[in-house]
Formats: sequence, C-alpha cells, structure tokens
Amino acid sequence: PARQLPPPTAKQVQLLDRLCSDVFSDWAPPAHEYQVRENMLRTIEDFIRHQAFPSARLTLFGSSCNGFGFRNSDLDICLTFDDCSDPQSLDQPDIILKLAETLKRLRFIYNVIPISTAKVPIVKFTDRRSRLEADISLYNTLAQHNTLLLHTYAKLDSRARILGYMVKLMAKICDICDASRGSLSSYAYTLLLIYYLQRCKPAVLPVLQELDADSRRPRLVDGADLWIGFLRFYGEHFDFERNVVCIRRMEVLSKFEKLWNGSFIAIEDPFLLSHNLGGGVRRKMASFIRRTFLLWRLHHMRPIPNSLPHGYRDFR
Ligand code: ATP
Ligand code: MG
Repeated sequence: PARQLPPPTAKQVQLLDRLCSDVFSDWAPPAHEYQVRENMLRTIEDFIRHQAFPSARLTLFGSSCNGFGFRNSDLDICLTFDDCSDPQSLDQPDIILKLAETLKRLRFIYNVIPISTAKVPIVKFTDRRSRLEADISLYNTLAQHNTLLLHTYAKLDSRARILGYMVKLMAKICDICDASRGSLSSYAYTLLLIYYLQRCKPAVLPVLQELDADSRRPRLVDGADLWIGFLRFYGEHFDFERNVVCIRRMEVLSKFEKLWNGSFIAIEDPFLLSHNLGGGVRRKMASFIRRTFLLWRLHHMRPIPNSLPHGYRDFR
C-alpha cells in the first residue's frame, strides 16, 4: 500500500516542483485573457440591455475571477437587475427563456441552450471567436461570495494557487470533476485543498473566517512537498468516515454534528453551512476519488519526464 512508500527523493521533489510550475504556466490564462472575458461580458450586457432587459447587469464569478481559472474554463456569469428590489419574486424560468431568445440573435455566439427547469436555471452558450463556453444564472450571490473567498486564498500564497491548478487538473484528467455525474465540482476540490493547506505543518493558509489580528505569516515549504502532502492527506490520513471538510474553522467538524452520517465524502460550503458539496457522491465514486489520490502519489514516485507529460496537455 501507498503508506509504505518512501518519501520522494530530492530529485523527484525537484522534478515535481517543475511539473507543478509547468502545469500552472501551461493552464493559467495569460493576463490579456481576463480582458477578453470582460469584453465579451460587456458586449453581451449592452446587447441584452438594448434588446430585452434595460436594467440588466452581468457579473463574472467562478474561475474566471477566483484565481484558479484554466485557459479553457467556462465563463460563469450572474445576471441581476439594477431596478429589482425583490429578486425572490422574479419568474426565473421565464427570464431564462426570454434571455435565450435574445442571445440567439447575437451573431458571435452559438449553441444557445436554456435550461429553465433546473434547480438553478441557466442559459448555456459558446463564444464563436474564443470557443469559450459560458452560462448565465440569476442572482447567484452565494457563488459571488465564495468566488471572493477563493480569490483571497489564491492571493495569500502562490503555492496555494499553483496547487489549485494541480488538483483541478488531476480531477479533470481522471474524470472525477463533474458533480452532475456523481463526482465533485471544481469548487469542491479547491475546498479540499484549502482545508489541507490550513492543517499541514507549518500551515500555508489561515482560516480566514476566524482570523485573529496577530496571526503570523506561514513559513515556506516547497510546493512539491505540499502536493505530495495533499495527496497523502486525502489518500491516507483524512477520516472520511467520521469527519467533514470544513474551511471556515480550525476545530474538527464531525459528520455526526452535521447529521451527515450517510454521506461518503462530506464537504461543507463555507457560506451555506447546510450545503454538503459531497452529498451526491455514492460509495463507489467516493472510493474511486479516494483511490485517485493514492494512485497519483504513486504516479509521482515514478520518474518524471523533463517536459510536461502528454496526458497533462489534452483534456476538455
Ligand atoms: P472551472 O474552471 O472548472 O470552471 P469553477 O470554479 O468555475 O471551475 P464551476 O463548476 O464552473 O467551477 O462553478 C462556478 C462557480 O460556482 C464556482 O467557482 C463556485 O463559486 C460556484 N459553485 C459551483 N458549485 C457550487 C456549489 N455546489 N455550491 C456553491 N457554489 C458553487
Ligand atoms: Mg467555471
């Protein structure tokens, strides 16, 4: 079993460090891409203001602005109305359908699909020039809060940011990054990482939601050691049977306390505390996800090629 593996050699750590920074530089969008996304947003906003909703306002959230975005990550867009004082009263499915009809008239986007009956109604579409996918939801204020929280963690420590790319890339390569298909969302994997970085010794990230004034800046450890540490933490140490991944406080949170005993992977949303991000994961998927952490640790014990391996380059 993986727990009998020797620690990585200095050479492996060095190569793995390179791998981590290559993954980051290969997948993080170049600075001008933020502008591309922002411009796309403003053009669409102008169009729907003129054509259908005069007080519409579009805001980006998710990985386009949380510090963990990939070049090809989708645009997550939130639609609000400047003159609406009671968002609860909006007929969301109706607005989504009208929005889709409007967007279909915009030449530079295609594949406009309204999903108006979902729990969170959205319109999906693709931008013709950049090929980026996007979806628009309404009043997704919770997601805007957690975007800001993740962005703050990403800014606090560059290693956290780089490791965020590693964990998302691993999850995407292994096809365990889709909550609608019974695994976990990108957001959930980022929470797993933050939780680990708050608890490794010495800690890399503070618990922002209970930060006291005199918390000191953490000491430095290699990014590669942290990546191995992360894989070991969830592959070997974390007690999934008993505990909940919870980034808002340092004290251990048990499944018993949350009444989440039936859940195989329990991850508490840091704002909507009743929300378990692992709630849809069944037993088989849970053990597959946990085994992925172990296998990746093994995978990293093998010689690492000098350039980024092929599998790290192509997935969608
Ligand atoms: P990716 O680069 O894979 O697109 P992402 O962080 O944008 O990563 P999405 O699945 O597109 O992930 O989700 C967009 C945003 O919506 C997340 O960043 C998060 O702010 C919010 N979000 C997603 N799922 C949840 C959830 N289950 N509960 C609360 N917020 C969520
Ligand atoms: Mg996204």
